[in-house]
Amino acid sequence: MAYRKFTADYIFTGTNMLYRNQVLITSEQGVIEAIVPLAEAGEDVEKLEGILSPGFINCHCHLELSHMKGVIPNRTGLVSFLIAVTQQRQASEEEILKAIRLAEQELYQSGTMAVGDICNTTHAAPIKHKSAMAYYNFIESLGFAAGKSKGRFLLAQQVFNQYNSLLPQYTAAIVPHAPYSVREEMFALINAQAAGKTIAIHNQESPDENMLYQNGNGDFNRLYQSLHTDSSGFTPSGKTSLQTYLPWLEQAAAIMLVHNTFIQQEDIDHTKLPQYQHQDIYFCLCPNANLYIEGTMPPFNLLRKNNCTIVLGTDSYSSNWSLNMLDEIKRVQHESAFSIPTAEILQWATINGAKALQLDDQLGSFEKGKTPGVVLIDNLVNQSITTKSAAKRII
Ligand SMILES: [Zn+2]
Repeated sequence: MAYRKFTADYIFTGTNMLYRNQVLITSEQGVIEAIVPLAEAGEDVEKLEGILSPGFINCHCHLELSHMKGVIPNRTGLVSFLIAVTQQRQASEEEILKAIRLAEQELYQSGTMAVGDICNTTHAAPIKHKSAMAYYNFIESLGFAAGKSKGRFLLAQQVFNQYNSLLPQYTAAIVPHAPYSVREEMFALINAQAAGKTIAIHNQESPDENMLYQNGNGDFNRLYQSLHTDSSGFTPSGKTSLQTYLPWLEQAAAIMLVHNTFIQQEDIDHTKLPQYQHQDIYFCLCPNANLYIEGTMPPFNLLRKNNCTIVLGTDSYSSNWSLNMLDEIKRVQHESAFSIPTAEILQWATINGAKALQLDDQLGSFEKGKTPGVVLIDNLVNQSITTKSAAKRII
């Protein structure tokens, strides 16, 4: 059997950074065989400069919004952003498909191996079918209007059924869009189908989300007016959004909280209560999207201090300048003043993401028998990724 052998300045395994003189051995098809010392690797070792990493896992994207690149201005705040997306997401099918195709290529070429993709339509399904990447399809259910939860959930269920027949090789799950767009009745319908699944939800992306649940105030009332949504009958719980809805998702095997820009210590404490012990909770950060929409950063160090399991995503082209995971890694480094070890951020972008998307049996780390892809990150200074660094797919 023919092998490929690679050595580089560093090999990141998915959990650890190995230094010089280690060799990654794969089959021709990219199945991981072993990591051995250079002295034992024999001949034909390809020498590369930079970090070799397993392929990236982009835990949060909306491929079907790829045609919105550059459409919405930066830093409008979340509610104005959402109104703009609702008003401007329409486009011809041809335009939508072309943009999804380009986005899929960009993701693949920049080293992504799997995508947690939010779906409201089946537009991306044929492209995913031919794609070399894996997917976890989060079928989004939303609709805050009084008395409309069941009807809106059934619409999501139709898309869910289509995904199961078009892409049976990938898991699909019906998920709530966000606490401000889903009521308790819809959470109950979603929860009833959540067993064994990872459920993703946009969480605490603006301070107004907590205000809505704590006292019924805040900017979301402007959203409901603009969309002519009948928000009557909604009763604030007096608690933050996360502390209100998390008990409503108790059937899910895992919960992926996306954004967390305004999460606080008391919310993190809540996720550690014994009632959630049976669930894995992932904190998905999309720092460039937060910068784009709100001009803010998620609290990296608060989450790290509490040993939260962090994963990364790019979000969509409606709120980002690229779908390149390395741009998110660079943003984390930059915004944390290079205080977070490179290996730790790479773990967020690889094995943690693979676990969140239930794809860690094949992806996310250089373990024997897996096919995680091999990515080279070049132009380092010491062990740090620089603004000049690029991620290049080797396998
Ligand atoms: Zn999103």
